[in-house]
Amino acid sequence: MSIHFQIEARSGAARSGRLITPHGEIETPVFMPVGTLGSVKGVSQDILEELGVQILLGNTYHLYLRPGVEQVRNLGGLHRWMAWPRALLTDSGGFQVFSLTDLRKVTEEGVTFRSHLDGSSHFFSPERAMEAQIGLGADIIMAFDECTEYPADAGRMRASMELTLRWAERSKRHFEDHKQEVPWPKTHLAPDGPVRGSLHKPAHRVERSSAAFVAPASFLDSTQSLFGIVQGGMDRELRKQSAERTIAIGFPGYAIGGLSVGEPRALTREVVESTLEHLPSDQPRYLMGVGTPEEIVEYANLGIDMMDCVLPTRAARHGLLFTSEGKISIKQARYAGDEAPLDPNCGCRVCRRYPRAYLRHLYAANEVLAQVLNTVHNLSFYLDTMRAVRHSILLGKEAGSPCVRSRPKP
Ligand SMILES: [Zn+2]
Repeated sequence: MSIHFQIEARSGAARSGRLITPHGEIETPVFMPVGTLGSVKGVSQDILEELGVQILLGNTYHLYLRPGVEQVRNLGGLHRWMAWPRALLTDSGGFQVFSLTDLRKVTEEGVTFRSHLDGSSHFFSPERAMEAQIGLGADIIMAFDECTEYPADAGRMRASMELTLRWAERSKRHFEDHKQEVPWPKTHLAPDGPVRGSLHKPAHRVERSSAAFVAPASFLDSTQSLFGIVQGGMDRELRKQSAERTIAIGFPGYAIGGLSVGEPRALTREVVESTLEHLPSDQPRYLMGVGTPEEIVEYANLGIDMMDCVLPTRAARHGLLFTSEGKISIKQARYAGDEAPLDPNCGCRVCRRYPRAYLRHLYAANEVLAQVLNTVHNLSFYLDTMRAVRHSILLGKEAGSPCVRSRPKP
């Protein structure tokens, strides 16, 4: 057993449930913060735990270049290396590689690309992407796909979708043949019943994490789970075909890829909605690279279970903060004398403690603490938004605007 997904409540198309992984449970729908290089920039793991983050995303492309897969594998995999006992997901590296427009060459076999760091030449294929992701050892890993650019003509969209399907088969074959090579220490799980305790607790050290790793005994011989990715550009018929044929290959979960690539938001929604009709209702559905607080609520209401986006963390580093009263650009001079908390309706450690005037000063003075505090608040806002969405689904209501806490629905 590797993952187990159970839906506990439905409201319209939305569902709320639990995704149980070898490194802990995730309440869905879930927003996954992005830890590109093994860190959510500016925020330490203990704070992420305190915020209630249950799963983090890592980028295979970046980790492959730095520090390198072998390095992480030799240290026991990502969980151990980055001291993160909870669940992890890695992307396949495809999306980043395809963003290197001038630095890549695609063939049937795979993609040759140049590192954005030093220009060195590398090759990714479905097999190489699986090898890298097995070495990194996240709980959920992704098939190697081609992210179709936007706009693309009909012929190009079809050819790209067909290539992704052939790569999905190769990804699965390689994964099935090599999944036992995941570098997870097998000794951290007791043979009889759930285990509580740090994932990698050396006898001479204090337990590393209060938010203990909990896993059922059935995970003793667990492996990673490989998700398939539906492509097909912005064409509804191609999306349907891609969904049906990816399902025929067979994966424990499905992602919708190739969106948020510059298309209008209304089109994103249309493609998501039409693709969802063709995905199994009892398996996790992951929408990659989305979105604003409003969008994550909207997509959860459509029946998406998992989402990730760099927006809350990246925007925070640029002083753009999401609040229950709308977006705030903390760099503005009008906050220089403002004693109010960033968001009066937010209970996060930043809003409980600091006035806007101080946050504005930190940002203007380019203090490192500005990035830390801004990121903590934005992540907290996203996580609270998803908590409110899950609560609404459990009550049988459609979730309203983000941070429902401030504007409770009657
Ligand atoms: Zn806050």
